[in-house]
Amino acid sequence: MSLDDHAEELASSLGVDKTEVKRDLENLVEYSVPVEEAKDSLRRKYAGGSSDDGGPTSKSIAEISTGDSNVTVTGTVLTVGKRSIRYQGSDQVIFEGEIADETGKISYTAWDDFGLETGQTVTAGNAGIREWEGDPELNLGESTTIQLADESLDVDYEVGGDATLAELAPGDRGVNVEMSVLEVETKTIDGRDGETDILSGIFADETTRLPFTDWEPHAEIAEGASIRVEDAFVREFRGAPSVNVSEFSTVTELDRTVEPTEEAPRLAVRDAIESGGLFDVELVGNVIAVRDGSGLIERCPECGRVVQNGQCRSHGAVDGVDDLRVKAILDDGTGTVTAILDDELTEEVYGGGIEAAKEHARDEMDQEAVADAIREEIVGREYAVRGSLSVDEYGANLNARSFEETADDPAERAGDLLAEVRG
Ligand SMILES: [Zn+2]
Repeated sequence: MSLDDHAEELASSLGVDKTEVKRDLENLVEYSVPVEEAKDSLRRKYAGGSSDDGGPTSKSIAEISTGDSNVTVTGTVLTVGKRSIRYQGSDQVIFEGEIADETGKISYTAWDDFGLETGQTVTAGNAGIREWEGDPELNLGESTTIQLADESLDVDYEVGGDATLAELAPGDRGVNVEMSVLEVETKTIDGRDGETDILSGIFADETTRLPFTDWEPHAEIAEGASIRVEDAFVREFRGAPSVNVSEFSTVTELDRTVEPTEEAPRLAVRDAIESGGLFDVELVGNVIAVRDGSGLIERCPECGRVVQNGQCRSHGAVDGVDDLRVKAILDDGTGTVTAILDDELTEEVYGGGIEAAKEHARDEMDQEAVADAIREEIVGREYAVRGSLSVDEYGANLNARSFEETADDPAERAGDLLAEVRG
C-alpha cells in the first residue's frame, strides 16, 4: 500500500481532506514514524480529543497555536463566505471566514452548514486546528458542535465584511465591496466541468483599482456600472489581491455612482515591496541603471520569452521576433525595483520604433546601440512610474503603465515631504 493509499483510506474513514492527511502522514514518515503508528496518531488528531487527555480544552483565540489539535472556543463571527470546492471528486460547499474574541481573531473553515451568521457569538466545541501558512486555523467539521453563546463579546474588529478595495488582502473571505466596473471582458476557460465562460476585468473604488474574476457571470457586472458585491473572496494574483465573485455572491446595482480614483497610491519603494505586491501603484525614484536585455530584443515566436543567441530556453533554436523593452532600475533611497517598459513606453523614451531601432543597430553594427541610447537618455533622471508591482523569486518588478519624468520643483517636493513627515 502506498502512502497515497494510506492517506486515501484515512481521509475517507475520518471524513477529512486527503491532501492534508497526506501531508501530515508524509511529515511523520519522514521522521521515521512507522506508517501504522503515524496513522494511529492522525486518527487521534482528526477524530477529536488530544492524544493525552479526554476532551479539548477551552481557549481564547490568542492562546490557540498550531500545536493544538482540538479546542473549544467562543467568538463573534466576523465574516461568512460560502464557496464550492472540488473535494474527492465531487463538489462540496464550504463556509469560510473569521471569528474574533477580545484577544484576537482567527480564520475558520466549516465543512458543514452550521448556519453561521455574521455578528453571532458562538461557542465552537471540539474545533480542529490546522496550520495554514504558519498560522492556526479553525476546522469546523462533523465532530464540532456550534452553540449560540448567552452573551455577546466586545470585539475590536468590524463585523460583517464591508471593506474598501484598498483594505482587501489575499485570503479574505465573505467580503462586501462597493465599486465601479472599469473594464470587463468575457473569457472562455477550461473549467472543472469543461469549457465555461467567466468574466475578468478591473474594479475601482475611491481607494484603488483591483483585478477581478467572476466565475459565474453576473449581468450586473457591466462596464461603467456601480455595484455592490456581497460574499466575494480574495486571492493572490501575481503578488497582488484579486477579487473573486462566485455563484454564491450577490451582485446588485447601486443607486449611487462610485467615482473611481484617478490616482494610484504613491508609496516609498521599501513599503511597496513589503506589501508583497500591488496592482496599481506609483513609485518615484532615480533610474540608476538600465539592465541587460533592454533595447532591441528578440522574443521566441512560440512563448514570448526573450531569445539569447537565437536560443529559447524552452524551444531551442528559433527565429526570434523583434521587440523593444526597457528594464530600468529605479531607486528612491528606501529600495530598488526593476521598472519594465513595454514596446510603446520604450518607443517614447527611445524616440523611435522597431524599424528605427533596427536601422540604428545596423548602422552601429551593434545590437546594444539601442539600449545604450536609452541609458544615455534616462539614467540619472527621476521618474514617476505607475504600474503593477509583483514581488517574487524573480525580484521586485514594476510592469509600467506610465513612465513620466518628474517635473516637480525640488524645493516644492521637499516642502511636501516635510508636511508629510509632520503629519
Ligand atoms: Zn520559446
